Amino acid sequence: MKDHVNPETETPEGAPADAMGCHSKGEMAAAARKAGQSEILDQYAKDYPTGPHDQPQSMCPAFGSLRVGLRMKRVATILSGSACCVYGLSFVSHFYGARRSVGYVPFNSETLVTGKLFEDIREAVHDIADPEKLDAIIVTNLCVPTASGVPLRLLPSEIDGVRVVGIDVPGFGIPTHAEAKDVLAGAMLNYARAEVKAGPVQAPVGGKSDRPTVTLLGEMFPADPMMIGAMLAPMGLAVGPTVPCREWRELYSALDCGAVAAIHPFYTASIREFQAAGRPIVGSAPVGHDGTAAWLANIGAAFDLPADRIAAAQNAFLPAIKGALAAMPIKGTITLSGYEGSELLVARLLIESGADVPYVGTACPKTPWSADDAAWLEDRGVKVKFRASLEDDCSAMEAIRPDLAIGTTPVVQKGKQLGIPSLYFTNLISARPLMGPAGAGSLAEVVNAAISNKGRMDSMREFFEGVGSGDTAGVWEGSPNLQPQFRALNAKKLEKAARARKAQEMI
Ligand code: SF4
Repeated sequence: MKDHVNPETETPEGAPADAMGCHSKGEMAAAARKAGQSEILDQYAKDYPTGPHDQPQSMCPAFGSLRVGLRMKRVATILSGSACCVYGLSFVSHFYGARRSVGYVPFNSETLVTGKLFEDIREAVHDIADPEKLDAIIVTNLCVPTASGVPLRLLPSEIDGVRVVGIDVPGFGIPTHAEAKDVLAGAMLNYARAEVKAGPVQAPVGGKSDRPTVTLLGEMFPADPMMIGAMLAPMGLAVGPTVPCREWRELYSALDCGAVAAIHPFYTASIREFQAAGRPIVGSAPVGHDGTAAWLANIGAAFDLPADRIAAAQNAFLPAIKGALAAMPIKGTITLSGYEGSELLVARLLIESGADVPYVGTACPKTPWSADDAAWLEDRGVKVKFRASLEDDCSAMEAIRPDLAIGTTPVVQKGKQLGIPSLYFTNLISARPLMGPAGAGSLAEVVNAAISNKGRMDSMREFFEGVGSGDTAGVWEGSPNLQPQFRALNAKKLEKAARARKAQEMI
């Protein structure tokens, strides 16, 4: 029996599969199982349940974990995957400002099948493991090495004090790049937890807080943790690190907290680590009036605080939040969709600001930590769609015809084509404070400005009306040279292939 399956050249049935990649999910997953990766795929299926949308519809999921590693001090990253995937991932990471190199161990069919790729990865890890420069090295198997069963777990767990963390982040096991962040964060927390158990670890850079801390889970606008810290102070609590961390030693302080706030609710593997360390988890976030009131109460309960301490924090901040929301109202109907994991929180804030939000789509799955937000929204008649596909988001927008569509790039593009003012969630909404008094009213400026652009959208649409779309788009000197017979011929070929496939299935 062969040790490795080469999914670049063979499917589990042995048929050639030279075009495998993001769209060969089923074959890749079957190859991975054949190569002994069932355990990890089953764990991913539990942590990141799919359906109805289970195919990466945006960027490669591995971008999430890559970015988390690249943002950490004294951490090197090595990718193992097809050159085209690595090219795309390193391009995007540098586009987003990664100021360091992405390591790459290339392979070919031979090194993949014979196991030499694993030896090459081990050699690369030994080459760069310099304790003067690095605390850790993250090695990531992309789709093909995962499907082939390249055993990163057999890498040494540390070399001269440099930790080595190997993760598999295949597109056929991790549905979104948001959840891939959790794969790496969870793996690092798991490593750090074992270190804490084994003996003393490094103290935090700024020393240990004299108050019990709350660790925050999920990437946020930089001012948000400070705002949360201010809201925790009247309860005698302090804000701890934000996971994913920016430095290895922060992992220890993150674990050393009194409770974890799952601000982004999809960090399943990280939550498993915190629970194993005995830390209680609090879902939702301090957004808007109702969200902040409930969150402060839940945090207080997690620390078993007396009611007057919780009331002190609520009384200190809730009136200011109410005032800020009333001072910056939002009028209009908004559809909202995204893949960041904070969609439900943003929807709550928009509704408390006065907006009508009939639809919220998130590419992330439903978890216990988003249940309160979903219930709050559903009580107000909002249709909340977890694991929403691009088609779900677009059809909601087309049916509702909102005054503003907030969404991912293709949703925004479609919205603009329809003359609907649209805002890109990641760049324009995620890049604003959302928590407490700072978040209340912070969206109004950008949202109201976009809604008031309706006239401009209409005149642009009128201006471009008639320039064509799809294969008739663009500027033509004469009439397009249509060849409908080619299209008919191609349709016939596809039909014939489908019939042959069907007949094959019946044999
Ligand atoms: S690693 Fe990413 S880009 Fe490459 S095949 Fe997998 S999902 Fe697609």
